Amino acid sequence: MSNEKLLDEVADEIIVCTKCSLSKTRTKAVPGVGSSAAQAMFIGEAPGQSEDIKGEPFVGAAGKFLDYLLSEAGLSREKVFITNVVKCRPPGNREPLPLEVETCTPYLDRQIRMLKPRLIVTLGKNSTACIFSKVNLPFDGITRVRGKFFKTSLLGMQVVVFPTFHPAAALYNEKYKEQLIEDFKLLGCELKKMIA
Ligand code: URA
Repeated sequence: MSNEKLLDEVADEIIVCTKCSLSKTRTKAVPGVGSSAAQAMFIGEAPGQSEDIKGEPFVGAAGKFLDYLLSEAGLSREKVFITNVVKCRPPGNREPLPLEVETCTPYLDRQIRMLKPRLIVTLGKNSTACIFSKVNLPFDGITRVRGKFFKTSLLGMQVVVFPTFHPAAALYNEKYKEQLIEDFKLLGCELKKMIA
């Protein structure tokens, strides 16, 4: 079966998932969007209000900024795959609970196995903590690890993990905004080398 079909199959399961109580409060589940041939995967924390309404990741204010950051790296939504650790909006945009992450993460694992991305960009501390725990890397805060490339093995595949701040952080902190732009420029340079 093609990658596209396999990813669609996971998305169809996510859309009707009732494995945790977030399914009771969501409007739409948010499986992820992008190319089934993407070499780079971007992982956020969980959908917010706009994403819950539209069923697409990063379509609110943070998403607009993510689009700008992607363009700084020479990328676009169509070329990459964007998803979240947790596929349904936690009420009031609270952080996902550990049990919600545990219940939902097999969907993310399946998406990673299907895409086989060469690069995974984790957006923010919770997404970074989740991926770092899967590869047994110690996580001691987003500010310590952001903007660095971690070559590792994830689910039996060689992958480079690149943590950075969550794009929403740029909306309230000018320093984070500058550092995000810096990280995405670096990402663009590295991607050119990796894909060349
Ligand atoms: N924040 C996230 O982590 N993901 C989204 O899809 C939107 C906002």
